[in-house]
Amino acid sequence: MATTDRQATTPALAHALSAAERGLAVIPLSRTKLPALRSPHHDEPGPRPGPTTRCRGECGRFGHGVHDASTDPARIRALFAAAPRATGYGIACGLPPHHLIGVDLDTRSSADSSAALREPALRHLFTIPATVVVLTPSGGRHLWLSGPPDVVVPNSASRLAPGIDIRGAGGYLAGPGSRTDHGTYTAAPGTAHLAPAACPPALLRLLLPPPRAHHPTPPAAGGHGQGLVQFVLAAHQGQRNTRLFWAACRAYEDGIGPALVAPLVEAALNTGLTEREARATIASAARTTGHHP
Ligand SMILES: [Zn+2]
Repeated sequence: MATTDRQATTPALAHALSAAERGLAVIPLSRTKLPALRSPHHDEPGPRPGPTTRCRGECGRFGHGVHDASTDPARIRALFAAAPRATGYGIACGLPPHHLIGVDLDTRSSADSSAALREPALRHLFTIPATVVVLTPSGGRHLWLSGPPDVVVPNSASRLAPGIDIRGAGGYLAGPGSRTDHGTYTAAPGTAHLAPAACPPALLRLLLPPPRAHHPTPPAAGGHGQGLVQFVLAAHQGQRNTRLFWAACRAYEDGIGPALVAPLVEAALNTGLTEREARATIASAARTTGHHP
């Protein structure tokens, strides 16, 4: 048993280190695709059973899932040394430099996993660029895309289309070479050497949360522009940039972008963003929608 575990760990670590060399932050995964390191807070008392801590690694110990992820070979070796039963590795999404977005195409919705994207791509007029594709043991595939640095793409399930899950900030993807109970993840032929391609803007917008989802009351009166400003003002920390980006995209698409820059910056300042951050995000929205910032 110990021998098998030892043999299994070495290839997983080797694959993880080679992913880290490409700038991808990794964590050890178990055969069940879950983080291999148990939370150091699992037995701490709380209002609910199980881990209740909000610690994301500040305690200095391992076992915080995707928050353990690193590109530092010494830390990766330490993580795998602490997880001798790991047979795979997870790649954290949303982190610099790639700001990885994983498009997880399942086979449940369609016999051909790539067909699932065809309908949204035709409807929203985007094409998927040549990029890394990872074949999953169940016959699905993961497309790796790179997002802009100033936008938080959330994890979502079937937002784009049934059977398509998105791995964004806080999520991870099993990397090629990972072994699980169901088989091994492998890079699709001809894609292993590619860098994650930039996410097409039309697809990126579909991956961001629509305002209604977080906005139970209709925007205040005063027209569409005022509604977008209100939408930014209502942002909680953690969604400020994403909301600002979304609102600015809408403003540019609706032809009121230039007129709304000043009100949007002011609203963003109110939520705690700096002027520099706000202007960078609005400029990114302008570029994304094909306008000059
Ligand atoms: Zn902790």
